[in-house]
Amino acid sequence: MLEIKTTSPEETSAFGKCLAKILSAGKVVCLVGDLGAGKTLLVQGLAEGLGIADSVHSPTFTILNVYEGGFPVYHFDLYRLENADELFDIGFYEYTEADGLAIIEWADKFPKELPDEYLWIEIRSNVEKNEGSVEDRVLQVRALGATYEQLCEELKQTCQFLR
Ligand code: ADP
Ligand code: MG
Repeated sequence: MLEIKTTSPEETSAFGKCLAKILSAGKVVCLVGDLGAGKTLLVQGLAEGLGIADSVHSPTFTILNVYEGGFPVYHFDLYRLENADELFDIGFYEYTEADGLAIIEWADKFPKELPDEYLWIEIRSNVEKNEGSVEDRVLQVRALGATYEQLCEELKQTCQFLR
């Protein structure tokens, strides 16, 4: 597991931009954390890093946004999804095994529906605990599967936050 601490929205976004260097088509990234943790902000940084010009926001009502950045980026937000059956209707299983990069906000809602291997990023703020600044976030990055373990190694080499 890798742990990164950010102290501003800009830093979380910059970490997302770092992720763009190691991610590619066919990969899956799960994003977990409360409302306002910074999941979408991280995706915005990632999209910027991938050279995506579209505006990136949580697909809270549409569940899925698709961006084009050299390869398709499938940005899911499962927050409002009530039933795992709906995942089929929105093409979740296809898109998480496709030619693009899948990013899933609230991936912990339907853990059994996730593919076997992915990068799992959990964002926590310490606001409840009254610790530190309201802009402090702890990002934990975990790899499931050998491919993603390798990616974590690459992330350590390329990302300044991890030095
Ligand atoms: P989520 O998608 O997890 O619900 P958003 O990315 O939409 O969260 O929003 C995160 C909010 O928290 C933004 O308003 C952002 O400015 C604020 N924020 C404050 N500090 C940070 C930080 N260190 N990292 C990310 N967001 C932060
Ligand atoms: Mg969001």
